[in-house]
Amino acid sequence: MILHRAAWVVPIAGPVLRDGWVGVEAGRIVALGPSASGGVEAAPPFEQGPHAILPALVNAHTHLELSYMRGLVPPAASFDAWVRALISLRATNPDPLADGIVHAIRNAIGEARAAGTGVLGDISNTLVPAGMLHDLGMPAHVFHEMLGFKVTAGCEMVTAARRRIDDVAQRAPAVRISLAPHAPYSVSPALLTSIAEAMPDAITSMHLGESPEEVHFLLHGGGPIQAALESFGVWNPSWTPPRCGPVEYVEKFGLLSERLLAVHGVQLSYRELAQLSFANATLVTCPRSNRWVGVGNPPVEQFYASGVRVAIGTDSLASVEDLNLFAEMAEIRALGPKIPARSILESATRLGAEALGFGDDYGTIEPGKRAALIAVRVPEGMDDVEEYLLSGIGPEDVRWLTEA
Ligand SMILES: [Zn+2]
Repeated sequence: MILHRAAWVVPIAGPVLRDGWVGVEAGRIVALGPSASGGVEAAPPFEQGPHAILPALVNAHTHLELSYMRGLVPPAASFDAWVRALISLRATNPDPLADGIVHAIRNAIGEARAAGTGVLGDISNTLVPAGMLHDLGMPAHVFHEMLGFKVTAGCEMVTAARRRIDDVAQRAPAVRISLAPHAPYSVSPALLTSIAEAMPDAITSMHLGESPEEVHFLLHGGGPIQAALESFGVWNPSWTPPRCGPVEYVEKFGLLSERLLAVHGVQLSYRELAQLSFANATLVTCPRSNRWVGVGNPPVEQFYASGVRVAIGTDSLASVEDLNLFAEMAEIRALGPKIPARSILESATRLGAEALGFGDDYGTIEPGKRAALIAVRVPEGMDDVEEYLLSGIGPEDVRWLTEA
C-alpha cells in the first residue's frame, strides 16, 4: 500500500482531515484518516511544504474541438455577436483533422490535466476528441452534439449519428459517448424528438437558458435568433414559438430527468431551477464563459439556494482563457460570496462525476474509488483550506499523486 500524507485531506465525502493520509493499493483508495489513526508515522511528508490532497476535479462542460480558437473569438457585447464570430471562424477551418486543430485538442487535454482535472464532459460535433481522450487516458463522457433547426425527419440524422458513435466507440472504448441536442433554438422539434427516443437511458446535455435572446425566442419568436437562423439559411417558417421557458420546453420532449446536464441556466427563474432540482437534473455553470459571450453573470447564489445539483464547466477555449477548473471555482466564489466553500468544491468533484456517470470511481476520496488524487500546495499557517482552494489555484501548485 502507498501512503500519501498531507497537511490536509479534503475527501469531499466527509469533513476535512488535518494532517491526514490516504492509503492506495492497485490504483484504488483503500483507507484514509487523520494523523493519529492507522500508524502511518513512517510515511514521508511532502518535501515542499504543506499540501492539500483532494480528488481529481471534474470539468463537466468543454468543447475540446474548438481549442484552436483560443484567443481568436474576442469577448462580445451580445451572444449574437459572439456566435456569428465563432461560426465564421469555424467555416474557415472545415477540416476537423487539420494539424492545428488536433494539436490544440491534445494541448487542451494536457493543460486540463495539469490543472488537476481528471474527468471531462465534452461536447463534440466531429467526435475527433473522443479518440484522443482515449489515447491520452483521460476519462470522459463525450456528448455527440446535434444541430438542425430545419430538420423535419430527425430519424435519419440520428441513425447516421449513432453509426458514427458506434464506429468511434470501437476505437475509443474507454470513452463513453451519447447524443446531445445543442440548444432549443438550434434543434428542430422533430430532431429533439428523435434524439430523445434514440437513447432513452443515456445521459445527455443541452445548452439551456444561456442568453436573453433564447428566452425571448421561445416565448415570442423573432428577435436576433430568428434573424441569425434566417441568415444561415436554416430558418423554418412553419415553426411557432412554444410560449414557454427553456426548462418547460425540454420537459415536453421527455428530456427533463436525472440524466440531463442543463448547461448555463443564466436566464432561468427560481421556479425553473426548482423544476430542474425536482427532476434531479444537473445544472452545469460556466460563469467565465457567460461573461465572455455577453449573456451576463449566472445567478450562482440562486443556483445553490434552489437545491439543484450544480456541476461546473469551463466551456471552450473560444470563450474562456484556460480549462483550469480552479479558476472557474474562483469565479463562482467571487459571484457568490455566501455559497459555502464545501458546496463549490462538491460541484467541481462529486456532483460533476455523478452527472457524467463516473460517480462510482471518481469525485470523492473514499475506499473503493479510483486513486485519482491531486495535491495542491497551500500556504503555511492557513486555517481554512476549503476557502483557500477557491482562491484561484494555478497548475504550478498542482501535482498528481501516484496511483499504484
Ligand atoms: Zn457549450
